[in-house]
Amino acid sequence: MIKNLIVGCGLSGIVLANRIANELNEAVLIIDSKNHIAGTCYDFKDENGITVHQYGPHIFRTNSKEIWDYLSQYTQWRPFMHNVLGIIDGIEVPIPFNLNSLYKAFPPKLAERLEIKLIDEFGYNKKVPILELRNTQDKELNFLAEYIYRKVFLGYTVKQWDATPEQLDASVTGSVPVSISRDDRYFQEKYQAIPKEGYTRMFENMLNHPLIECRLNASWQSVRETIQYERLFFTGAIDEFFDYRYGELPYRSLDIRFETLEMEKYQNAPVVNYPENYDFTRITEYKYFLNEKSDKTVLSYEYPEAFAAGRNERIYPILNEGTQSRYNQYLEEAKKLPHVVFLGRLGAYRYYDMNRTIAGAFETFEKLTYGRYK
Ligand SMILES: Cc1cc2nc3c(=O)[nH]c(=O)nc-3n(C[C@H](O)[C@H](O)[C@H](O)COP(=O)(O)OP(=O)(O)OC[C@H]3O[C@@H](n4cnc5c(N)ncnc54)[C@H](O)[C@@H]3O)c2cc1C
Repeated sequence: MIKNLIVGCGLSGIVLANRIANELNEAVLIIDSKNHIAGTCYDFKDENGITVHQYGPHIFRTNSKEIWDYLSQYTQWRPFMHNVLGIIDGIEVPIPFNLNSLYKAFPPKLAERLEIKLIDEFGYNKKVPILELRNTQDKELNFLAEYIYRKVFLGYTVKQWDATPEQLDASVTGSVPVSISRDDRYFQEKYQAIPKEGYTRMFENMLNHPLIECRLNASWQSVRETIQYERLFFTGAIDEFFDYRYGELPYRSLDIRFETLEMEKYQNAPVVNYPENYDFTRITEYKYFLNEKSDKTVLSYEYPEAFAAGRNERIYPILNEGTQSRYNQYLEEAKKLPHVVFLGRLGAYRYYDMNRTIAGAFETFEKLTYGRYK
């Protein structure tokens, strides 16, 4: 009988396994249907010495000293402030759209007038959701709002979700900001960095404990009749666990296509968005993240597509009233299983960044420690 069985060797499962083994001194079996650990954060060094993120670019950031100190036991970091550019009317502008973007996109006099009006109306160093900016009454600010909405936001959103912003849940679109500042960083958290030897190596270090056994190429479906366990922590999709009895929880997915080019550098930022042109949403150039030197460079192109089980990955949950109430039905089922805990992005049916994912695994661990689970 296994004391703790964890399904899913991604970030959630690994954090939980690590803390159970280290702090509770209990044995853990962690399994994954994939042939590698690290789930969506999986990276590897390719033959040119460039670290590639197989499921798309990952930049770690947190405001939590607790989370930062915890991970820092298992990795050294390369501090990394992320910059994103967007190609608008063929010109590179900083994204999220900010005061520097104004001067790239418009003639100086117009940019200056817009800057003054934005600061007067909203204040400096504020982030205004784009849908709020659209409601402004000032003629020129209204022009700006429409410009950003059409050129930066609409095209990207339609590609990403195959739906207009109005058709999507406010939680998906409402947070996309226009930044009234000259801060070109994509994120503002206190700690922003990339593990010096990659995410996969950091996770290997976290799993390196005599009480943790890790089994790859092992799906829950293939072991559930044979493995006996006291507690099960499930980080896979909650609808799949319950054999889709209330229907599927829908997701958007990504077809990520990689390309290696015989040149030192391809673009002027690690990530460049293409809201207007092409079918892909963005191009990532991986050597930026760890400042890796090579006369070649690796790019990925992200083509959003519908999720289909067995064909691609669940990436972005499609949140609306209908899918939320379906998810709630699964939560009711979950309550009937006291020995099973659902966690992680697929258990929560939410887009969780790594910080939120780790916080969720910590919450599960704390409930376990204080006896909330049997
Ligand atoms: C394109 C993209 C970019 C991102 N960029 C960032 C970023 O820049 N910064 C950031 O902080 N976060 C980023 N994230 C979010 C980050 O990837 C997640 O927070 C994190 O990976 C979630 O970990 P998890 O363990 O919950 O899920 P996952 O990583 O999905 O792990 C779940 C694991 O469970 C396994 N599994 C599922 N079902 C079964 C089953 N039935 N049997 C066995 N195994 C199973 C899966 O194979 C998988 O390995 C990004 C995510 C994506 C998709």
